[in-house]
Amino acid sequence: MGDRTFFVGGNWKMNGLKPKIDEIIQFLNAGPLSDKTEVVVSPPTIYLDYARQKLNSNIGVAAQNCYKAESGAFTGDISPGMIKDCSCDWVILGHSERRNVFGENDELIGDKTKCALANGLNVIACIGEQLEEREANQTMDVVCKQTKALIEKIGDNWGKVVLAYEPVWAIGTGKTASPEQAQEVHADLRKWLAKNTSETIAQNVRIIYGGSVNAANCKDLAAKGDIDGFLVGGASLKPDFVKIVNAKE
Ligand code: PEP
Repeated sequence: MGDRTFFVGGNWKMNGLKPKIDEIIQFLNAGPLSDKTEVVVSPPTIYLDYARQKLNSNIGVAAQNCYKAESGAFTGDISPGMIKDCSCDWVILGHSERRNVFGENDELIGDKTKCALANGLNVIACIGEQLEEREANQTMDVVCKQTKALIEKIGDNWGKVVLAYEPVWAIGTGKTASPEQAQEVHADLRKWLAKNTSETIAQNVRIIYGGSVNAANCKDLAAKGDIDGFLVGGASLKPDFVKIVNAKE
């Protein structure tokens, strides 16, 4: 089995003015955060620099999105280089809200992933099925198609990618996938990656789970062999996030 450091990401989404951000930064810096877990939080774009300057250096910072070009006439967007320039090393791409609210497709997410990696960023790449797709037994078809669109774009850069399996029906709904449901998808995805990339990549890539993770359910999820961490939305705004970071201890 690969040596996969537990990874917990906090996606703040479009939440928090400076007083709230200061409060989150305060509980994150106070921790204590397990040194066995890699922690990366994702503030709204406009606060990337502010948060990076105030957060302890053991906490990574991710943008929630970026464009597929290095610069140019793309009003309202940001480039991977701008994220790096704010001393942030990560970006979340393909989040279900980007796919479903902003209409991003696999091709655009692939192009963004390629550009982010080429510019030295690490990528949290999100995949996941809708409720109707799960009910029609299409979960693996959907997540494999979404992952397939990334393979060529990632190339030799799998070491800089974390895959986040986030069933859309579990995001922000309070409905968590059971540890068994999540483990099943993660294990099948790892087998699929072994066939479609290489055994080494499949064993080493971290596959994290996202969807209503909280302080009460995180330990059972973290105990599963193929769940290598979490991407956390709502609960990342609360001190409970520290408990989720320490779920593996
Ligand atoms: C997310 O936004 O990635 C997420 C998993 O949200 P929540 O934890 O609120 O379901």
